[in-house]
Amino acid sequence: MDIADPILVCRACASRSRPDVVRWRCECGGMFDLDPGSSALPTRRSSAPAVASMWRYADQLPFGPEHVWPGRLTMGEGGTPLIFGSPDDAGPMFKLEYVSTTGSFKDRGAVVVVAVAMELGATEVVADSSGNAGTAIAAYAARAGIRCSVFVPDGTSPKKLRQMRAHGAIVHEAGTREDAAAAAIDTVDRTGAFYASHVYSPFFFEGTKTFALEVIDELGRCPERFVLPVGNGTLVLGVARVLDALAASGRSDARPQLLLVQSSACAPIADAVRRGATTVAPVRNEGTIAEGIAIAAPARGDQLLEVIRRYDATVITVDDDAVATASQWLAVRGTYVEPTAAAPLAGLQAAVESGLVGSTESTVVPLSGSGSKAA
Ligand SMILES: [Zn+2]
Repeated sequence: MDIADPILVCRACASRSRPDVVRWRCECGGMFDLDPGSSALPTRRSSAPAVASMWRYADQLPFGPEHVWPGRLTMGEGGTPLIFGSPDDAGPMFKLEYVSTTGSFKDRGAVVVVAVAMELGATEVVADSSGNAGTAIAAYAARAGIRCSVFVPDGTSPKKLRQMRAHGAIVHEAGTREDAAAAAIDTVDRTGAFYASHVYSPFFFEGTKTFALEVIDELGRCPERFVLPVGNGTLVLGVARVLDALAASGRSDARPQLLLVQSSACAPIADAVRRGATTVAPVRNEGTIAEGIAIAAPARGDQLLEVIRRYDATVITVDDDAVATASQWLAVRGTYVEPTAAAPLAGLQAAVESGLVGSTESTVVPLSGSGSKAA
């Protein structure tokens, strides 16, 4: 084992350990976080990049310069454009996360998780996903020459399934989203494969945090507002990791407003906030075109509630009509995204209409996934 110095910390029992191939959660059943000391503060750019990509933040990721990233594994993920919503430079800014190797922001997390799997000597990775994470893990596993299996729920977009299979992944359709996760975990536990989970692996959030690092670098400061989609919360937890580091370093701009958006058809986080609960109760997924955030029982739900409390974040829900309207708003302005990716804009529009948000200046909205992958 030769990873720089990442230390896993159990969220349940606080035990500390080094990563290895087979342990995807603590012996006590708790989920792992990375010790904040495992990666440096977001204060400077690395001179490391081989290509224009998120690896310019390599010194803030849990890898030393001697390690196998970026030359072998990178496919230019990250480094996405930040544009204004309209040519007259008014209103929110959009970060075009769909301009990435496999067409979604999940590439940021996938490249880090697969790099860790490579470093640990894994020969097989297993993932479960409703689509974009599976395509990203499949692509980076292919790039790394590591076998890959992906467990997906029934009804996953045929285009995403074709993409996973094209990368050589073995795809298993396994009932509900929760069934897919259970089947992946069962396989990992039986075979000793590396669990390349975008939910359980804390390394995934090391990748997604580069989204916020790029925004802050481009603007020269933290924006006043991030509007983020929330299903499993992979982007929220990455952004929070950056904000926590900024706050720890005493930066005054470390507390932007966080506006978090769920689909009203599947909103366990919004429900918990409404009830004032500190744990998330599973809900029934009523079905939504925003399939990428339709997570009925988010495994890190309680952690998301902690972030919401820490940053006094607002959670808003949007229905499919609002998502479709936002999607069309984007498309007629040249940005073609999948429905899930339009949900944050729908949330921002609803927040403006209800008076929750006044000016939308200094507001950053990710466009998380490409419209060309939607069913
Ligand atoms: Zn533990």
